Amino acid sequence: MRKDRREFLKVSVAASAATLVPDTISSDTTVAGGEVKNAGAFGVLVDTVLCVGCRQCERACHKANGICEKDPESFSDRTLLESPRRPDECAYTVVNRIAGTDPKYWMKMQCMHCNEPACASACIVGALTKDNRGPVVYDAWKCIGCRYCFLACPFDIPAYEYGNALNPQVRKCTFCYQRFGESEFQPACVSVCPGGALTFGTREELIDLALLRMKRAPDKYVDDIYGRHEVGGTSWMYLAGVDFASTSLPRVGSQPISALTEKIQHGVFKSFVPPLVLYGLLGLIMHSLRENKQEVRENNEQQI
Ligand code: SF4
Ligand code: SF4
Ligand code: SF4
Repeated sequence: MRKDRREFLKVSVAASAATLVPDTISSDTTVAGGEVKNAGAFGVLVDTVLCVGCRQCERACHKANGICEKDPESFSDRTLLESPRRPDECAYTVVNRIAGTDPKYWMKMQCMHCNEPACASACIVGALTKDNRGPVVYDAWKCIGCRYCFLACPFDIPAYEYGNALNPQVRKCTFCYQRFGESEFQPACVSVCPGGALTFGTREELIDLALLRMKRAPDKYVDDIYGRHEVGGTSWMYLAGVDFASTSLPRVGSQPISALTEKIQHGVFKSFVPPLVLYGLLGLIMHSLRENKQEVRENNEQQI
């Protein structure tokens, strides 16, 4: 193993060792330079330079969440990495090849657990909430199936169980929230990642780790941490060896979208505007973002 790689792994282990997630943390939320800082909140750093595209994270996530029946052996099929896939109701996370890269890079995708989640602001019944420890949590009992969260999410993440006639739910990465109280907790996907591509820790630790990796190997990393500022910051953040504009992560700017969706919602309810209008307004807000995402996807597809 090369020396610089060993050093990366050592720092990764330091950041994620002995992680004891408290039941609650201070909800000291401040905004600085477009970044909403939830002090002490947890997140994950996805280092696409270290990802080996093994799909172990997909397998572990599927096993941990018991969603949809799948042959465990199907996760050994690496040909799927070549065609862009999105997380859906049967897969809270997917790994894709970053299109056009040679040598190849891979990118894991899942809910970003935004600091200021637009999905939660758009949800009129409070079925999606931001836990101050990091996860954006879904409560199926409160959900009325309106799917405003779909329109609001700038990352196209929430999926709906259309095939479940009796009790359809919104599905997305849970951040393995149900196990947060366990000693030495790590999300299932993080715990199996063999390459050190996934690191769990507080958001502050992860940003420090990312900065350190970029400083130590400027030839390997682009000088950017995706998710540090995007839409006010996200709990899951990325490092990459190529410009993020050429990946499937959308260019979303640093302004939290939640403030806008909340304002519209309040206005709508104050004026008794029917829900269909809210749907339309949310759609308009997302329109420009989706154009960007579509453009990125088309570029990716052309390059494959
Ligand atoms: S990525 Fe989408 S679904 Fe996940 S927290 Fe952010 S807005 Fe919500
Ligand atoms: S955090 Fe948990 S739910 Fe989310 S992708 Fe990882 S294993 Fe799946
Ligand atoms: S388990 Fe780690 S190395 Fe393997 S595909 Fe997932 S993120 Fe990449």
